[in-house]
Amino acid sequence: MKYDLHNHTWYSPCSLLNPQALLAIVKKKGFDGIAVTDHDTLKGGLATKKLNKDRDFEVIVGEELHTDRGHVLGLYLQKPIRSRAYEEAAEEIHRQGGIVILAHPRRPMPGAWFRMDGLGKRLMPDGLEVFNGRTGMWSNIHADSLANKLHIGKTGGSDTHFGYEAGSCYTHFEGDLARALNKKKTDAHGRGKGMLIGGPLSFLSKLSLKMGVRKPHG
Ligand SMILES: [Zn+2]
Ligand SMILES: [Zn+2]
Repeated sequence: MKYDLHNHTWYSPCSLLNPQALLAIVKKKGFDGIAVTDHDTLKGGLATKKLNKDRDFEVIVGEELHTDRGHVLGLYLQKPIRSRAYEEAAEEIHRQGGIVILAHPRRPMPGAWFRMDGLGKRLMPDGLEVFNGRTGMWSNIHADSLANKLHIGKTGGSDTHFGYEAGSCYTHFEGDLARALNKKKTDAHGRGKGMLIGGPLSFLSKLSLKMGVRKPHG
């Protein structure tokens, strides 16, 4: 199975990508599934899932949360996560039967570098994103060694915000994702597109919202 586990759509302020286009791109690239992880909303995931008519392709409904420890991807969610305290958010995700993944845990930006100190075993994530398309090589390598040190399953995701980014990083696994992560049987791969173009594009996307040039989706 080849899944891209980190994607945003125009339901995130920093993305202009419509769910239909995202689906078309990853399916053309031969993916078996994606996770749609918009910032603080399930709307993108739900919209994408509704558009997908292919039984051999899976759309995982998720969201990306900016918690007090760092960014977290909640996958397989039924309803939005309320808390932004990592411990509580992780519990909420698990209570729904979801998967907790630390997104780009070593991206050297305020709020994005995950604070691991004092994290109990009970609250360890299910997966750690070691290939993030918008994070530099050094940070991804650093995240990979963190996953090795903590014995946590690895994931890859493009952190897609625009069409050209979709499918650049991905996760390989067999069978069920949660089980594969648990057994450390996933592989992460990719060649990210970085922030050089994506950063300014996301900035303009947010600016256009702020200036009222376009209306928010959802
Ligand atoms: Zn993030
Ligand atoms: Zn993201």
